[in-house]
Amino acid sequence: MLCIGIEGTAHTVGIGVVKQNNGKCSVLSNVLKIYRPEQGGIHPREAANHHTLYIADLISESVKKANVSFSEIDLISFSKGPGLGPCLRTGATAARALSLTLGKPIIGVNHCVAHLEIGRGTLSDCTDPVLLYTSGANTQVIAFAEGRYRVFGETLDIGIGNCLDKFGRTVGLDFPCGPAIEKLAINGNKYLDLPYSIKGMDIAFSGLLTAAEQYYRANKSLEDICYSIQETTFAALTEVTERAMAHTEKDEVLLGGGVAANKKLREMVQTMAKERGASFFVPTKDLCIDNGAMIAWLGVLMYKSGIRLKVEDSFIDQRFRTDMVDVTWRE
Ligand code: AMP
Ligand code: MG
Repeated sequence: MLCIGIEGTAHTVGIGVVKQNNGKCSVLSNVLKIYRPEQGGIHPREAANHHTLYIADLISESVKKANVSFSEIDLISFSKGPGLGPCLRTGATAARALSLTLGKPIIGVNHCVAHLEIGRGTLSDCTDPVLLYTSGANTQVIAFAEGRYRVFGETLDIGIGNCLDKFGRTVGLDFPCGPAIEKLAINGNKYLDLPYSIKGMDIAFSGLLTAAEQYYRANKSLEDICYSIQETTFAALTEVTERAMAHTEKDEVLLGGGVAANKKLREMVQTMAKERGASFFVPTKDLCIDNGAMIAWLGVLMYKSGIRLKVEDSFIDQRFRTDMVDVTWRE
């Protein structure tokens, strides 16, 4: 089965073509364009305008790069949510147009679940992981239990990526700020106290953000602040992930989302996994960030398990939660 996936939940418009091979996912193409605001955060309408501008060309490019023809495509999959309304609508509209033009079925998928499934689909031995999903807007610890992907812990306020980006903006770094903060942190060596807020299994970052900004205004070394932000936030994320692993008795951990590119975060989670005798997985970078291939792959899994969607029912859902999805494709 050949599927084209359309991603457009926030800053990225991405199109991917995948094929199912012996139950695993083979990515034939995965192309994307990222909207970068000139200043401030993401403006939903401007991001959607950006996606509208590029989406048709990206669709053609992805099909060409996959070395297939439109007539060979069996299924159209799109990000149903969660995400920004105008961006989601752009992706869904393109998906409907493709579905009607090609006369092929359409399916709408949950973006967070797609981050987990692409790990299971592309990495050998990654079968039943706890996912630490760290992106701009989303921060969740997700694992499969009793027919659903359950959220064991999540941010109560802002995502880890947003926390890094907001701090970066305050101190004048370019968006996305995570990579620059990672670089600065390498030269930091003095730990500055920051609030470590874990409530139950959930996490909050805004208090830490305010405290970090205060250090900056008090002329503390930027390198030390970046170092301390990483140490504190990543330790909290690792702690919640470990508790989810202990609770579910799972022995695999998977990273996903843009912040998973960070070496320090990888190192901490990998160390935790090693100490528990668990396996550590992280997809290739192009599959960690928001991308169309993961949307296509989840579409394949859902369609093959018997799920069908009519074009007239192909709504988007800005608040589509991970645990709302009935996971019909797993035992
Ligand atoms: P996503 O929303 O999943 O596409 O991820 C985007 C987020 O990842 C942004 O907030 C970036 O600042 C962050 N990010 C990207 N690379 C890194 C990195 N090396 N370290 C920390 N954060 C990063
Ligand atoms: Mg994402």
